[in-house]
Amino acid sequence: MSKRPGFPVQLDRVTAAAPKRPAPRSLGEPAAIPQPIAAPRSAPVRAPTTGLGLDSQAVRTRMVDKLRAQGVCDEAVLQAMNQVPRHQFVESALVNQAYEDTSLPIGWGQTISKPNVVARMIELLRAGRTDKLGRVLEIGTGCGYQAAVLSLVAQEVYSIERLRGLHEKAREHLRAFRLPNVHLIFGDGMVGFPKGAPYAGIISAAGGEQVPQPWLDQLAVGGRLVAPTVTAQGQQALVVIERTSTGFLREVLEAVHFVPLKSGVA
Ligand code: SAH
Repeated sequence: MSKRPGFPVQLDRVTAAAPKRPAPRSLGEPAAIPQPIAAPRSAPVRAPTTGLGLDSQAVRTRMVDKLRAQGVCDEAVLQAMNQVPRHQFVESALVNQAYEDTSLPIGWGQTISKPNVVARMIELLRAGRTDKLGRVLEIGTGCGYQAAVLSLVAQEVYSIERLRGLHEKAREHLRAFRLPNVHLIFGDGMVGFPKGAPYAGIISAAGGEQVPQPWLDQLAVGGRLVAPTVTAQGQQALVVIERTSTGFLREVLEAVHFVPLKSGVA
């Protein structure tokens, strides 16, 4: 077992402890042509052998054009999705599908949401604001892709994952990008992450029977929560909750299919 740094893990600290590696790329630089991700000690270099390498920016731009055509209009979200190389968050066998509007397996029986759903949820979280969101809590780090997108539209991102294998994988994926505002936590997101509260936004990538009370407690007044939740009709749908000075406003939107929110860690 590799030693696990204290929580929340600050990615730059993790990187600082790692052996010398090539200079990090910045997600903040527009149109950066993705290079193969810096090789972690034990894993093979995931060189883009599929032709997605040098022209992945063009493929990504097409994905973003499609998102726009599908109705996503938050420019900050579109720009973030244009910058994060989604193909570097999936297994090499799936690289060719990385920019299609499809969910993809990420191991441990989990999936990365399709780009349209990622964009839609973050747009709902931001609710039309033009400046950056404050602190955001993501439940379900998975492969780390959505955390990377969030890091470009929010000031701080706390992302919690209950499966140690995926938590480690996300850390590996994100290390090369050096995102000092992303904090990865291994733990049960059902209880939220009180240390980072209150949050301007809470976003869940896993769907539960109901929205756990700690999430509501940890939401700032004026903050928004977006989570797939089972509705009164017994179907999973996107639920948006806004905390006002007097209570919570709840809105049920379209039906969705997310992996289940589970308690405990594994
Ligand atoms: N945002 C992710 C999507 C991951 S899928 C990405 O970009 O890849 C949803 C994730 O939620 C899974 O990895 C699953 O293990 C995790 N999950 C489910 N219940 C959880 C809980 N209680 N706490 C933390 N993570 C949880």
